Amino acid sequence: MFQAYLLKYAEIGIKGKNRYKFENALCGQIEKRLNHIDGKYKVINERGRIYVEASEDFDRDETVEVMKNTFGVTQVCEVKVIEDKEWNNVCEETAKALIEMYGENNLNFTFKVKSRRSDKRYAMTSPEVCMEMGHFLLERFPDLKVDVHEPKEIIWVEIRDKVYVYSKIIKGVGGMPLGTNGKAMLLLSGGIDSPVAGYMIARRGMLIDAVYFHAPPYTSERAKEKVVDLARIVSSYTGLINLHIINFTDIQMYIYQTCPHDELTIIMRRYMMKIAERIALENDCLALITGESIGQVASQTAHSLLTTNDAVESLPVYRPLIAFDKQDIVDISQEIGTYETSILPFEDCCTIFVAKHPVTKPGLKYIQSSEKKLVDIDSMVEKALETREIVHVTPKR
Ligand code: ATP
Ligand code: MG
Repeated sequence: MFQAYLLKYAEIGIKGKNRYKFENALCGQIEKRLNHIDGKYKVINERGRIYVEASEDFDRDETVEVMKNTFGVTQVCEVKVIEDKEWNNVCEETAKALIEMYGENNLNFTFKVKSRRSDKRYAMTSPEVCMEMGHFLLERFPDLKVDVHEPKEIIWVEIRDKVYVYSKIIKGVGGMPLGTNGKAMLLLSGGIDSPVAGYMIARRGMLIDAVYFHAPPYTSERAKEKVVDLARIVSSYTGLINLHIINFTDIQMYIYQTCPHDELTIIMRRYMMKIAERIALENDCLALITGESIGQVASQTAHSLLTTNDAVESLPVYRPLIAFDKQDIVDISQEIGTYETSILPFEDCCTIFVAKHPVTKPGLKYIQSSEKKLVDIDSMVEKALETREIVHVTPKR
């Protein structure tokens, strides 16, 4: 039974003086996330490595899942902790650990033993540990083969206060620890793209809040619930998401009645951006995030993006999916678990009043002159902001 884990991280190891800040943030995140599941855990930060020790009663799969999905973690290794450091015992316990890790019938790969010794009083040096353990394992498991240059598996033996043995590596999500890079405001729709976009930015260490525009009664309560559900799935990686739900009906109707229909989508999207920026600034966000991708639909041609982007005055707009093909986005949404919810068939406020032939090369000047006709829009924007609903979305337990 494995009760300890070694967690490795990549980028945050090279941040010079800031390194401790990042390590502390990572340990804090791991602790917080493990607190939400059953079991008692101790997170130890020691010389550039993080160890997690679990008490007797814990769910192995859930624990690994939580750790590997913590932003910043690149690898999770299950560690066998050997208390009795007497060499024969270490060898026997290592053999048992390998059987548990790989299965008795699968011990037929090439390997190499690596060792670290922080307990300098231990009777053997690291090269001796490697050599002796290598011999022992070859004898015990005749189908193993040593390959010091390109081994399939590395078997680590670390001599510390206890002996730690590990080999199998579980890939983590990587990225940067949450909260090390401020906060951003995600424009979250019910589609496939925007949840993925939010996830990708959060993975770089940013906290996320979100805004959703709905148009009741044209869009249903169920469509709104779907967006809350998506936010909840994303929050299992990002922690709390304050979701601002904006009633967009009046604004949308007003644009529909006042502006040329082929410009509807673009003008609507510009107002979404403007409102999102207001909410973002109110909430100390440093950027907006959208799920836009070049050419995916008429409102996302390079010309359209230029026009939409113009509506935002003071914040950068992060578009992590800008160069992704749809299939690549679908793959990520399946990995992070948002796909099944995203494809549920509920109407979207963008699809209610769409023009049959939307402009694909909107001229900014024309769009702006159409918008001049929207003389009452400012008060509508204020009203939409005032009547917003805020849902504090936290992960499902
Ligand atoms: P998605 O799958 O994210 O819905 P999409 O392909 O449907 O994307 P659009 O509807 O053109 O694309 O929207 C582009 C981006 O604008 C979305 O990724 C999202 O960030 C934002 N957006 C669109 N509709 C809404 C909405 N109703 N509320 C909040 N943001 C929205
Ligand atoms: Mg959409």
